[in-house]
Amino acid sequence: MKKPTIRFLGGVREIGGNKILIEDGPDRILFDFGPSFSPRAEEYYVDYLQPRSASKAKDLLEFDLIPRLPGLYAKETLGDGDLAYTAPEVHGIFVSHAHADHAGYLELVDPAIPVHVGEGTRTLLSAIEKSTRMKYGEHPWQVFADRKPIRVGGIEVVPYPVDHSIPFAYGFIVRTREGTLAYTGDFRHHGPRADDTHAFFRAVADEKVDALLIEGTRAGPDPRRNLSEAGVRSGVDRVLMERPELALACTYPRDIDRLRTLYAAAVAADRDLVVSVRTALLLSEVAPRFPSGEIPVPGRSPGLRVHARKKRVSYLWERPFLEDALPSEEVRSRGRKLLLALDLAHFPELIDLRPPKGSPFIHSMSEPFSEDDVDDRVMHNWLDHFGLQFHQMHASGHASGSELLELIRATGARKVYPIHTEHPEAFEKAGPSVRSPELGVAYPLGE
Ligand SMILES: [Zn+2]
Ligand SMILES: [Zn+2]
Repeated sequence: MKKPTIRFLGGVREIGGNKILIEDGPDRILFDFGPSFSPRAEEYYVDYLQPRSASKAKDLLEFDLIPRLPGLYAKETLGDGDLAYTAPEVHGIFVSHAHADHAGYLELVDPAIPVHVGEGTRTLLSAIEKSTRMKYGEHPWQVFADRKPIRVGGIEVVPYPVDHSIPFAYGFIVRTREGTLAYTGDFRHHGPRADDTHAFFRAVADEKVDALLIEGTRAGPDPRRNLSEAGVRSGVDRVLMERPELALACTYPRDIDRLRTLYAAAVAADRDLVVSVRTALLLSEVAPRFPSGEIPVPGRSPGLRVHARKKRVSYLWERPFLEDALPSEEVRSRGRKLLLALDLAHFPELIDLRPPKGSPFIHSMSEPFSEDDVDDRVMHNWLDHFGLQFHQMHASGHASGSELLELIRATGARKVYPIHTEHPEAFEKAGPSVRSPELGVAYPLGE
């Protein structure tokens, strides 16, 4: 029989968009399936110009923005495009975590193909579906347990929890008929759940894998500052202590660790943390997946309030959270007793909030990479207009370049494929085992 192969159908020389196909005899499985964040994806589709929802795969295939893989897509989404529908030829999709660049194209997948996710990821995906326009489609969802092997034909997959900026992230060890490999998903090395990442990499080393597929978001030149989660906490503590006005912060929407940090800092400073309705739903839905009391829940945890933005109509799912929510006028009057988590998309609320000049704004997300970032310019225009004081405080969800090299050496993997990175060449320092993959090429395992 032919040797098992690894094919990278996305995530090559770009951050996000991982799509990794493992073929072993008659068995084919895919790891992750989401859009990339690369500029190439925005050559044809941007915010205001999107594929048609009735023929999304057809519209993306027109510009080769998704792989031309037979037996993967749902019939409806292919429409009458040039990739004809065929019955499933992929026997399972494993999702490493709920970030859009890993799960965002599940909607396009043939509803007959099983999708394997961790239990927490399943919860996150349904909370996201409920509270946003994101759709993941109907699938036979298979929920896996930590470190419990799953068989798909002759392939065995073992999911290991890893630490990342969204909870319930996984790396995988994959055993084929002939050889093994490990896929890291997205991970960090020094976060609050670093032990999980360390245990995964120990298992990878014990397995003596033929191939290691490793993410490298922070590989290569990166002058941006980076803190630990504890560093973010002490920075926020300092700001809340020094500034007597309303404090504002913005975070990634699913970064539960950061929300917990903000909550703890607010409570310690005798303030309430005020979150959006969407965050309120997310916290309520994920809390049961954590040890009791670990996640602050609106309506139950003291010091946590919900922000009622100015809206004409509210959705059904929003209503339970809005009963006791604070409108911007009230946030304004109670300013010094509050820390408001405000998404950039909700900045028009500042017009009602009118924080006093010099009020602190904590940007708890990564700094823009380029100088001419449009979103960053718009954000600063707003901050300048309202005279807010900008503070950058972020702990990355990804391991640093030097940590990556250290981890690669410790695993002793025979071949290393850097993915989810714009700088695969930065990995070459790890030794001759490194191979920068090309899009769509099938690499025989162990060669
Ligand atoms: Zn990613
Ligand atoms: Zn991620």
